[in-house]
Amino acid sequence: MPPRTAVFFHAHPDDEALLTAGTMAMLAAEGHRVVLVVATAGERGLAEMEPGEALGETRLKELYTSAALLGCARVECLGYGDSGLRPKGGIAEERPDNAFIDADSEKAAKALAAILQEEDADLLAIYDPAGGYGHPDHVQVHRVGKRAAKIAGTEIVLEATVNRDPLVRLLRLAGRFYKFPPEFDVRTFESAYSSSETITHRVNVRKYAKQKRASMAAHASQASGGDSDRTLAVMLKVPRPLYRLVFGTEWYVRRDLPPGTRLTHPFDRWPK
Ligand SMILES: [Zn+2]
Repeated sequence: MPPRTAVFFHAHPDDEALLTAGTMAMLAAEGHRVVLVVATAGERGLAEMEPGEALGETRLKELYTSAALLGCARVECLGYGDSGLRPKGGIAEERPDNAFIDADSEKAAKALAAILQEEDADLLAIYDPAGGYGHPDHVQVHRVGKRAAKIAGTEIVLEATVNRDPLVRLLRLAGRFYKFPPEFDVRTFESAYSSSETITHRVNVRKYAKQKRASMAAHASQASGGDSDRTLAVMLKVPRPLYRLVFGTEWYVRRDLPPGTRLTHPFDRWPK
């Protein structure tokens, strides 16, 4: 396969670690050019540090570390404000002026499209229309990313998601052995992400489990402290032998392919 270019578009630093790190490490190891773009610095994430500029700087540094571990050739931040999330979910009422969800999505799409064109990207990875678990910045990633791919004429658009069926099963099982924080509610996963039948790509990333774990661990500010939904902290508690099993697959939906399609590599041709 000749080297190609894949751009991964995420809302906040650490989203790449959770959803697409294995695929990114795999593509880089295969000699493809991997570019990571985030919309925001995640300066309103939940952490021990106060939200604000300093947290944004810390999180961008963590992002560069994570990107280096995964073999990314380039990292860009579009510079929008992290819209934030209320601890119980839903949109934060007080938002920065340049909050990503309030941004002119056409303008944001053009900024991303400029990178896609500069890179002559073959593939753009975004999120599913629900934005995974529903963070408004993630929904905006879907909207902006879809439009950017159209402007730039990017051939392959993959929506990074999670196959929620085995996830819910595994979290239930894990809950019998590990104590999740009380605010971590397995039920929230039952309507999030995508069900098995809508998924077109199942990418085996077990070989890259070590890099994926290291990428998660690089986001230290998100893996400790805070008092709310510590998804990353919970994920890092998964014991090493189980980790490859739990995080050994990454899932994508490619909407221009018929449902029921089952591909295993982001650059797989269709029909085969
Ligand atoms: Zn996020």
